Amino acid sequence: MLPTKENITTVGRALRQGMLAGIPTETVYGLAANALDGAAVAEIFKAKGRPMDNPLIVHISDFSQIERFSLVRQIPEKAYLLARKFWPGPLTVIMPKGIAIPDEVSAGLDTVAIRFPSHPVTKAVIAAADRPLAAPSANTSGSPSPTTAGHVYHDMQGKIPYILDGGICEVGVESTVITLCAPVPMLLRPGGITLEQLKDVLGDVEVNDAVLHKLKDGEKAESPGMKYKHYAPKADLILVKADDDKFIRFVNDRADEKTGALCYDEDMPLLNVRSFPFGCKGDYTAQANRLFDALREIDETDIQTVYGRCPDTQGLALAVYNRLIRSAGFEVIELA
Ligand code: AMP
Ligand code: MG
Repeated sequence: MLPTKENITTVGRALRQGMLAGIPTETVYGLAANALDGAAVAEIFKAKGRPMDNPLIVHISDFSQIERFSLVRQIPEKAYLLARKFWPGPLTVIMPKGIAIPDEVSAGLDTVAIRFPSHPVTKAVIAAADRPLAAPSANTSGSPSPTTAGHVYHDMQGKIPYILDGGICEVGVESTVITLCAPVPMLLRPGGITLEQLKDVLGDVEVNDAVLHKLKDGEKAESPGMKYKHYAPKADLILVKADDDKFIRFVNDRADEKTGALCYDEDMPLLNVRSFPFGCKGDYTAQANRLFDALREIDETDIQTVYGRCPDTQGLALAVYNRLIRSAGFEVIELA
């Protein structure tokens, strides 16, 4: 339904009573529940088929709610710096967990992830609920995160009572996650706020190994979500790191009706296979915005092998690279 004032009030009340709702945010659509209600939060895991050891982000609509609802044990100094610069916005900050946070939210960890989103509808829903909202992406676990209300409906129909349609998500990939519960602030997941921006504010920021590399067997994930192979399309996705001509030639040499290309917009007219463009080369904003929709489109076909462009790793492209390399199960072909 449309996010009218009335509908937002209805959804806010339902959330306060323990129900779930699909809601738009500037990153991706979220599957929201009252973050202070363990039983309601447990329903999120059921609807998504999400492993219980994968913690959720708590969304607020005002910085003061952190203290008012006892979400955090103590607000680290650096959290104020980040909040001043990037909140409201696509940044999640991990802090020491407060007494009000149920174990379902933090997956038993001693820390909690907090985000203050900028989307006017998200903020209005949180305010209407008058509760912080736990909200992971509103997809079935293992599917690409939803960037339209249609994606949410596809995955959640029959499982949740409400979906608010706020159009296409502006950022298109999930929030940046940074932890302040480490000796040096550490980037756990790249997203809409870039590593470069974080360094500008904090100085030193480490990058967790799992951002760029596959975790070794038995290696502990600082960010539990990173241990799962996310967003895997049904087709076998292989990234090809090559210049423009070589990429085109490589794909066209393998052209048949079971092969596709996840490519830049300008590649499309040159390719002899079904292509799924996800933005122009170098336009990282467009790439982030369109990636998940392109992955879902591939799933609508019976294509078996998809060759993908290997994204850059600077700025917002790091978030695109991080998602794509995981979709591809870290399979990359490098052409000299
Ligand atoms: P999603 O809401 O689906 O974008 O997933 C949220 C992700 O945030 C999880 O998969 C974790 O990787 C990360 N996260 C949430 N809470 C914590 C925490 N307390 N410590 C580390 N990472 C967290
Ligand atoms: Mg998710």
